[in-house]
Amino acid sequence: MKKTDLLVIGAGPAGLMAAIRAADLGLQVTILESMPKPARKLGISGKGRGNLTNTASFNEFLKHFNNDGRFLKSAFKAMFNTSLVDFFSSEGLQTVEERGGRVFVASGRATEAVACLHRAVEKRNVQLLVGKAVSSLMIEKELCLGAVAGGKPYLAGATLLATGGLSYPATGSTGDGINFARACGHEIVTPLPALVALTPDIQLPECLKDVALRNVSAELRINGKKAAAEFGEMAFLDGNLAGPIIITLSRAAVQALHHGSDCEIYVDLKPALDHAKLDRRILRDFEENHAGRLADVIAKLLPAGMRQFCLQQLNLNPALKISQVTAEHRRLLRNWLKELKFRISGHAPWEQAIVTAGGVSTRQINQATMESKLIKNLYFAGEIIDIDADTGGYNLQAAFSTGWLAGSAIAEAVKNKKATTSAGTAV
Ligand SMILES: Cc1cc2nc3c(=O)[nH]c(=O)nc-3n(C[C@H](O)[C@H](O)[C@H](O)COP(=O)(O)OP(=O)(O)OC[C@H]3O[C@@H](n4cnc5c(N)ncnc54)[C@H](O)[C@@H]3O)c2cc1C
Repeated sequence: MKKTDLLVIGAGPAGLMAAIRAADLGLQVTILESMPKPARKLGISGKGRGNLTNTASFNEFLKHFNNDGRFLKSAFKAMFNTSLVDFFSSEGLQTVEERGGRVFVASGRATEAVACLHRAVEKRNVQLLVGKAVSSLMIEKELCLGAVAGGKPYLAGATLLATGGLSYPATGSTGDGINFARACGHEIVTPLPALVALTPDIQLPECLKDVALRNVSAELRINGKKAAAEFGEMAFLDGNLAGPIIITLSRAAVQALHHGSDCEIYVDLKPALDHAKLDRRILRDFEENHAGRLADVIAKLLPAGMRQFCLQQLNLNPALKISQVTAEHRRLLRNWLKELKFRISGHAPWEQAIVTAGGVSTRQINQATMESKLIKNLYFAGEIIDIDADTGGYNLQAAFSTGWLAGSAIAEAVKNKKATTSAGTAV
């Protein structure tokens, strides 16, 4: 079989970007993709709208990653957010910046980003072979020679593993690459779902089904100590706590659960009012409804699905006359509104996790080139590496940047090798 300069395994954002960059620098590139089409996960990203990156500054950007993004400095120096936006623009895809610096595909369709990358690889004569699941790497004496797919060897000057993590396996990211890396000696940081809904230790009542809350804050306490807090939207979905603020807190919560720590989420349903102000507000509501029932006041304080939950949890009778409500009832209600506690016992499965925390240890990857420190000519890019970030476009930028850097480094290495070989031949 003819040997290619670069064999990319996985046609996600990282693999496609690496292929594009390497082809631009003159390499012959072949991509092996197990699914029938490339980049399925990118196509559903950002709720189908594709949050490609974020306009945060370099230092701010890094803070959104595990280990403060130390491993990613070289990749982001090689290609950062503005370069990514320029790249897409030069390939005919416009983007738009929204709240929180999130940069989306302007048309609101993530699949257009997929189509754009697909066109970009075709234009550069990259050979994209779909429906080709790689089953193993070809390694001899700590040197990667290529990979095997469908029993057939694919030889290459360099091989890039860009197979993603384990989340949303239906998109093709099943963790294969992590197993290949493990098989040739790489340390794997235990993969865990990140950016995922959290499961409370109580069964949430039917009334909470699909309830969404705005302008609330949630605090994560690990072993009783505040670990993080977020303000914004949350929801109750399929018996879990979900929504943006919970998803953000889940990165730390899942790690804590994995280490056997106690995990609690305290929701403040009235973050704009401190205890004293909230007490005055409740008292006023009671006075204004002095002839009414407890349920009337609760209705003013909470959205529909939450009212019944509140009464159930506090064991209060909704028909209780306001005139019978005691100071103790008021205190209970106020505390519930300010500190609604959920003990967390688990999280939603891989099928629903947005990213994978863990993966190939960054200690065994050269951050300036993305090459393995153990196996020559083997490179990594994207979510397969032990990098993960908050929501906001950070994860896709990391996939694109590590792919770009790997493509650049591989082009240089392959060219140097060819130059050395031809110089050797000339002598
Ligand atoms: C629902 C959802 C929404 C998201 N939204 C956003 C967002 O808006 N913004 C953001 O920044 N991030 C988002 N993410 C995360 C982001 O999509 C990923 O971090 C990113 O796609 C990782 O890119 P990757 O190229 O490393 O891997 P992947 O996108 O996972 O691509 C890996 C590719 O490798 C292929 N592959 C796997 N095994 C093999 C094999 N053995 N042989 C051949 N090919 C193989 C897979 O089929 C796949 O095509 C979202 C994730 C999900 C699940």
